[in-house]
Amino acid sequence: MNLKSQTLAELAALFKEMGEPAFRAKQVYKWLHSGVRTYDEMTNLPQSLRGKLTENYPINAPEVVRKQESQRDGTIKYLWKLSDGNCVETVLMRYHYGNTVCISTEVGCRMGCAFCASTIGGLVRRLEPFEMLDQVLFTQVDSGLPVSHIVLMGIGEPLDNFDHVMRFLELVNSEDGMNISMRHISLSTCGLVPKIDELAKRKLQISLAISLHGPNDAIRDRIMPVNKAYPIDELLSACRRYYDATSRRIHFEYAMIDGVNDSEENARELLRRLKGLPAHVNMIPLNHVEESPLKPSSRKAVAQFQKILEDGGVTATVRRTLGGDIDASCGQLRRKYTQGR
Ligand code: SAH
Repeated sequence: MNLKSQTLAELAALFKEMGEPAFRAKQVYKWLHSGVRTYDEMTNLPQSLRGKLTENYPINAPEVVRKQESQRDGTIKYLWKLSDGNCVETVLMRYHYGNTVCISTEVGCRMGCAFCASTIGGLVRRLEPFEMLDQVLFTQVDSGLPVSHIVLMGIGEPLDNFDHVMRFLELVNSEDGMNISMRHISLSTCGLVPKIDELAKRKLQISLAISLHGPNDAIRDRIMPVNKAYPIDELLSACRRYYDATSRRIHFEYAMIDGVNDSEENARELLRRLKGLPAHVNMIPLNHVEESPLKPSSRKAVAQFQKILEDGGVTATVRRTLGGDIDASCGQLRRKYTQGR
């Protein structure tokens, strides 16, 4: 058990069992969530307790194995080594509204999207709650930049690691922890319909982003195997239910892929599908992945696609590409590292 995966209430129960006074749990919780690497840094704890905790509950903080900083926009990408030797990536992006970290939720991914580097080697394992929290925490500690926003858009499918992700959200949002507002957190999914419904029941104030990438089943089937289990109509109905439960506008991510999903007809079909759903479309110029034959759309196609959506009354923005000089499309750094490059 890692203490940093425990809520304050659970920690309090554990400390009670250990015969420690109640206030110790809160002290330890605050220290752990401030990013210490050893119990010896917890200077207001008695030596004996520090020793006991060190022996029984290793902190297992991740180590930086690679760090790349963009010369263009200050984006920083970390490759972390976890306590079992597996690696995951985290990206820190500097937006005008605040520093945003993009975290991984799994080591690898089993969703198999054709354009994505993270899924090439399949799923290795899911991350523990503390391993998600540590990415936020140690990115802040290492960079010295305060983190205000989080996106769950790194390696892995967050809804395929549902319970651990829910617990991570509770931890990172806690008042005695990093206290990051749910409204500053976005969760992105390729479209696991039953889990979207489960998430809706929690009525969290997070933003839900759906990786749509196509206006119909034919296109989604071709690039996203998940669509065979949960076709687009079912996915959009789940989005409607999510909106009804939370009143949160849905964000649709749409990677623009040359000749695959970027025609004017595709834009018009997307418009028809999204009609009546409070939606925002985030167009992402495809990041080229070495192993994939898919190519990004032309600037002209992107502009035309956006215009059709906007003219039809759906807000659409083109995501600014950050960190283009540092392999910042998730999964690429880990992939290079595990191939020994
Ligand atoms: N599994 C989740 C979150 C991780 S991916 C999901 O599918 O949403 C975060 C976003 O990056 C997703 O929208 C994903 O489809 C997109 N993405 C993956 N590879 C990409 C690439 N090469 N170029 C552009 N976007 C990509």
